[in-house]
Amino acid sequence: MKLPDKILNVVDMFAKIPGIGEKTALRNVLQLTKWSEKELETFANVLNELGTLQNCQECGTFADDSICGICNDVHRKKSQELCVVETITDCLAIERSGQYRGLYHILGGVLNPLLGVGPDELRLNKLAQRVKDLNVQSLVLAISPSVEGDATSSYIKGLLPEDVQVDRIGFGIPMGGNLDYLDSMTISKALENRRKM
Ligand SMILES: [Zn+2]
Repeated sequence: MKLPDKILNVVDMFAKIPGIGEKTALRNVLQLTKWSEKELETFANVLNELGTLQNCQECGTFADDSICGICNDVHRKKSQELCVVETITDCLAIERSGQYRGLYHILGGVLNPLLGVGPDELRLNKLAQRVKDLNVQSLVLAISPSVEGDATSSYIKGLLPEDVQVDRIGFGIPMGGNLDYLDSMTISKALENRRKM
């Protein structure tokens, strides 16, 4: 039996999500067919809203407005501490650990000359600017341990005034490890065991 296109079209969209295969997609969509028209409309509307999602002009994470809740937090600003991560997912992983109370800066990746990612492709100028504007005293680099991650960390260290303390987390983070896959405990330990660069 061939299912109606109205179902198959939605299945195709669900199957685009990494980690969701055809089978899971179909199972989800069959569940959706039980929803009321009103509920489906709400679902469609919230999905639509994702299209207008903004990034915080300061740290680069998701935001409802031009500045995110973390950057607007007075206590976090007062910390004069910045945690540099590669991706928004990394930032969320550290937030989940509950161990860090400073501000963030999302780079958008690491330096990778082979893939054409140079300093201009990352938010490095913005980082230097924020360190100055916020009078940041301490920077913690939560950048993955890899050849590219090491190069990026050294580059950042060289970019900042010498009196800014730069630490790197690393203990417990496996080589090439992605923060998103680590449990909160491992992240907490890694933050505790930061070492001066
Ligand atoms: Zn922000």
